[in-house]
Order: sequence, then C-alpha cells, then structure tokens
Amino acid sequence: MLRFAPSPTGDMHIGNLRVAILNHIIAKQKKEDLIIRIEDTDKERNIEGKDKEILEILGLFAIDYKQVFLQSNNIKYHQQIAMQLLIDKKAFNCFCSDEALENDREKLKNEGKPYRYSGFCENLSDELTFGLDAPFTVRLKKPTHDISFKDIVKGDFTYKPFDVDSFVILRTDKTPTYNFACAVDDMLTDISTVIRGEDHLSNTPKQIHIREQIGYNKEIEYIHLPVILNQETGKKMSKRDDASSVKWLISEGYLPAAIANYLILLGYNPPCEIFTVEEAIEWFDISKISKSSARFDLEKLKFINREHIKMLDDMRLSKILGFADIEIGKLAKVFMEESNTINDLKSKISLIFAPKVNCEGFESELNQLMQCLSDAPFMDDFETLKKYVGEKTSLKGKNLFMPLRFAITGAQHGPNLSEIYPFIKNYLGEIIK
Ligand code: GLU
Repeated sequence: MLRFAPSPTGDMHIGNLRVAILNHIIAKQKKEDLIIRIEDTDKERNIEGKDKEILEILGLFAIDYKQVFLQSNNIKYHQQIAMQLLIDKKAFNCFCSDEALENDREKLKNEGKPYRYSGFCENLSDELTFGLDAPFTVRLKKPTHDISFKDIVKGDFTYKPFDVDSFVILRTDKTPTYNFACAVDDMLTDISTVIRGEDHLSNTPKQIHIREQIGYNKEIEYIHLPVILNQETGKKMSKRDDASSVKWLISEGYLPAAIANYLILLGYNPPCEIFTVEEAIEWFDISKISKSSARFDLEKLKFINREHIKMLDDMRLSKILGFADIEIGKLAKVFMEESNTINDLKSKISLIFAPKVNCEGFESELNQLMQCLSDAPFMDDFETLKKYVGEKTSLKGKNLFMPLRFAITGAQHGPNLSEIYPFIKNYLGEIIK
C-alpha cells in the first residue's frame, strides 16, 4: 500500500502534485493500492475547503486511489498508542512550560548549540506528577541506538539518538504531532513505500523510532524527492511563486497531461520528452531520479503544453475551448504556432468572434469590407472570397489584406487566412458584425 498525505493548509504546490503522480506511478508498477490521507490534525493551519480542492486536483490528474481518509478520524488510535507507550515507560509526560522551553532554546542558541530537550521531565516519579494540575505534553524517549535507513534516491542515512531527541508526540490538547500521527497511520494502513518531499527526510528517523517503540518491525521503503527550485533565484519554489500553485497553472491554461509530463521529467532522463502518465508507468524507474534539486523551467512547460494541445483530439480541444464543433478544434490548431496555452487559444478565438472595431490605419477600408462581406453569398474557399471582395470593393494590396485579416480574425497578424478560412466559413455571418 502506498499513500499520498497532503495537508489541507493551502493551494496544492507542484512539489506535492509531483509526489502524488509518482505515488500513482509506483503503485501501478508495484500493483499495490494508493490511499489518500488528508493530514488535518493541525487545526490552526487547516484551511476550510482545501481538502476538497486537493481531491478535485487529483481527479483532474486521474490519480487512481482506493480510499480517502481524514487523519483526524484516527486520533483515538494515536492517543491509545501514546497511552501504551507511557505505560511501557517508552514515553513520559512533560510539564515544561513554553517559557521554560524557550529559555532553554535561547540559552543553547547563545552557546552556539542546536536545541535539544533538556530531559528535565524524563525521570520525574509518578508520585510527583500524579497530583500535578498543569498542562503537559507527551514525549517519546530518545532512542538508545543509532537509527539508520536507506533512501532509494538520496542514499544511506544514520542518525544519532541526540539528533532524534526526546520529542513531543501528543500536544497539550492531546492531539498528535505530525510525526506521531504519520508513523502510526503508516503502520495502521500497512504502508510499504513512502514517497514524499525531501523536506521530510529529517522526520524519517523519528518515524522509524516511533514504530520501533510500538513494536512494529515492518520495513518501509523510503523515497524522498528533491525540492523544485525557482528558476531565477535558485531557492525552493515558495508559495509566493505563482507557478508553484497547481491551481494557478491550470487557470493559466496548462493541460493536466502536460503538467504531469513536465513533473515526471524533472530531474529524470526519460526515453522521450513527450509522453502520458500511462506511458511513463511502462518505463519510469524512480531510483534513477537525480539526487539534486531541479529548477522549474516555465519555457519548457510551455513547450510540453503545446505538444499536448496538438495531440488532443479536435473535438476534445473544441470542448475545452467552450465550443462543441470539431471545426473550432481544427481552427485552434492553426493557431498553435503562436500559442502556448489554452488561454492563448481562447483569446485568439474570442478575437475572431468579437465585434470588429478599430483596425488602425484602415478604418474606412474595414467599413467597406464589412459591408461587402455581410452582403456576400456563402463562399466555400478563401480564394473565391478574396477575389469576390477585391472586385466588389476595388481595394488592393495592403488596403485589402490588412482589413480583411482584421475582419476575419480581429488581429492584424497571424496565420495565413487561407488556413483559417475553411474552419470559420460557416461562422462568417457571426464573425462579420
Ligand atoms: N502532510 C505532509 C505534507 O503535506 C506529508 C507528509 C508525508 O508524506 O509523510 O508535506
């Protein structure tokens, strides 16, 4: 079983989508199921409606999952397991106040040392703590041995007990912390492979330690994906970068198939550049992903998007553009040389159907032409039309072609009119207005 575990705390980031897509691919390759676990236990950071939005995006990308569940539904199990760890003396109640912990943090910082829990509450006797009426967290005792694991992409890691530390597993309100809920849920759902962002690498020894203390010994295969960097700054793509939001990319007219193609390609050397997720399932080898971070390249995504738009069936493209006529899909493809996105195509096509005013420098010629075209009979090909309007208006050369292009396309430049005309000839009455 594999899992994708998004937090409903903001717009879905492309890094998270990449994690979801690769989980989907590996689940298919291993012939295992994928489940979606919405990690909603941090109530303060949750944003209403983001869980639904995440599922809608997964639907758009055809991510095939078996089940969705909210992590908050498992809180009772997290608490029961924490209780057992307390009984087994593998965990302890910690009464240290936020101020006391902050003081320790400051002190260590001033000494140039990393923060670690002081261990103050670890050995308090039950008699002493029993009657205490103060808020407390539950901490797991740090390990007594090194924790080692192998990451398929990043290599081998070993963490010292000091690095793992005695960390909080239940907050004062007795909700589980991320590491605890995650480790317990991975165990409860029998996860075999964890694929997630490399920002979680340092959480892995903590999660292994939690499961070891519970007595669960099944080994999980880990794959931490390198972060995606902003092309200009070379820093991690943050929420402030528009292109980091999947919702933004879709609203800008990038096809899900193209975004998926691009994300699979990041840090990977595929056998071909343009492919579908189904094809990638055949050849993708996750162990061959580059260890180092990849830069997000919007120009490359544009190129891939163009290729995927060209591959769309004409009728499907027409529908995406808001029409239900195969001719409009064909018309859109004539504009592909100068378009990168669905939005570019929509604006070209809406110009064709927009009222034609203001053809700079050719105002009177445009009036003449529009009149002539609206009185003209139906003409099957562009050559006949061109000849007809030339004769009727006596306009010639630029004075004919500039306003004629404008009358038909609403723009002064673009593909040859003879390529456009076959697909708009049935709409001429609507266009000339
Ligand atoms: N909820 C975590 C995140 O969105 C994922 C943690 C995990 O996959 O273990 O980054």
